[in-house]
Amino acid sequence: MNLLDNYPSVAILGGGESGVGAAILAKDRGHRVFLSDGGALKAQYAAQLDQECIAYEQGEHSLDRLLTADLLIKSPGIPNTAPAVAACLERGIPVWSELEFAFHYTSSPIVAITGSNGKTTTTTLMHRIAQHAGLEVGLGGNIGQSFALQLARNPKPLYVLEVSSFQLDNCYSFRPHIAILCNITPDHLDRYDYQMERYAASKMRIAQAQTADDYFLYCLEDPETALALKANPVRSQLLPFSLRTASEPNAYGAFAALDTPENHTYLIHDPKTHETMTLEELALQGKHNAYNSLAAGLAARLLLIRKEAVRESLAHFESLEHRLESVASVHGISFINDSKATNVNSTYYALESMQNPTVWIVGGVDKGNDYTELMSLVASKVKAIVCLGTDNSKIVAAFANSHLPVVETRSMADAVKASYSLARKGDTVLLSPCCASFDLFQNYEDRGRQFKENVRSL
Ligand code: ADP
Repeated sequence: MNLLDNYPSVAILGGGESGVGAAILAKDRGHRVFLSDGGALKAQYAAQLDQECIAYEQGEHSLDRLLTADLLIKSPGIPNTAPAVAACLERGIPVWSELEFAFHYTSSPIVAITGSNGKTTTTTLMHRIAQHAGLEVGLGGNIGQSFALQLARNPKPLYVLEVSSFQLDNCYSFRPHIAILCNITPDHLDRYDYQMERYAASKMRIAQAQTADDYFLYCLEDPETALALKANPVRSQLLPFSLRTASEPNAYGAFAALDTPENHTYLIHDPKTHETMTLEELALQGKHNAYNSLAAGLAARLLLIRKEAVRESLAHFESLEHRLESVASVHGISFINDSKATNVNSTYYALESMQNPTVWIVGGVDKGNDYTELMSLVASKVKAIVCLGTDNSKIVAAFANSHLPVVETRSMADAVKASYSLARKGDTVLLSPCCASFDLFQNYEDRGRQFKENVRSL
């Protein structure tokens, strides 16, 4: 499709990283562009738009200008029900995400990663493997610079993109050569009328334009993914990653034989060559990270990246900030920052990977958590609970029968002090809050940094 002929005039809603990137790409390719943001633009984005001579407004949406556009590109944070979007839809103006728009302007293969948890880790792993193998590769989507801006300023022959369901909601022909669906667990359900099927269908849009030449990598043990695959069949080649031995000797996919005597041996079967590779050591610990490593390793082999490069990258990857990040050991007590764990599933995996008695710091803005899933892990791993939030009542009530000490705190300084006094030599203090951070912190990064600062000043 010739985008310029079909959509000479493009309106962009939302002036964040993706909106400004889309505006610059659109302008570069000859479209008339107008950007509108209902709030205040960050200074850096306003400066970029000024420099590129792109027309924009902030603090309001001029519907008359939006409704004369041929195409609307909207930020993932703005729902389709927002009045400006609804008005465009009613007028018959197509509404795309930045990802969809940018996709039309590249023919480079794309590895796209989505899921409820593990996106950033798997995306970064995949990117590092490709870089280590000497490939020229762009990293984008939800991470760092927008995909559109990279295409405009620094195009690459391969892209690894982290994509959220909000971006996928307005994708139609976006077609990654390799799609990875890490898992599907409840999150952001407020945007999907609290219907899990709708949220899952949104994730499955990553595969909607794929063909039989493409690959779809998914977690074999994830029940929600199995349901989603039934409800939304894909045309691409399905390759599972699993922590069990393959049921058939020549099954394609990535399998970690955790249930065999050769525990911790990871096998990646490559459908192109029928090869098997063994990974003795993965740098990222924990079952959830084994899934992430298998997924990234399998995708890398599908791109025909050398085994050595895959093995070396997976063995030497340093954990990412705020994701089971080792902070320090103070008097024999180790402190771990998992501030990015904002839902039950991610905290589940964090607790599961704890090797020592654990003082668990939990709390914040509850997004409708069901803590019962954590009960048995808490019983076996946790020695004390430190609540950290403005309203801790739900957590206190949920664990009232656990017979564990439960302490309530309302600042990071108090939470770290309380945990330190509850822990003994050989114990672990784990910040894995299970909740969003907005009650006491700017965001999860701020929460994680405050944790680290307080630990380091103990
Ligand atoms: P995302 O980008 O999807 O939010 P991250 O890689 O940033 O995922 O990890 C978010 C949280 O989820 C961290 O606490 C991390 O330890 C945990 N996590 C990472 N990978 C997985 C996985 N495959 N399954 C469940 N939890 C995971």
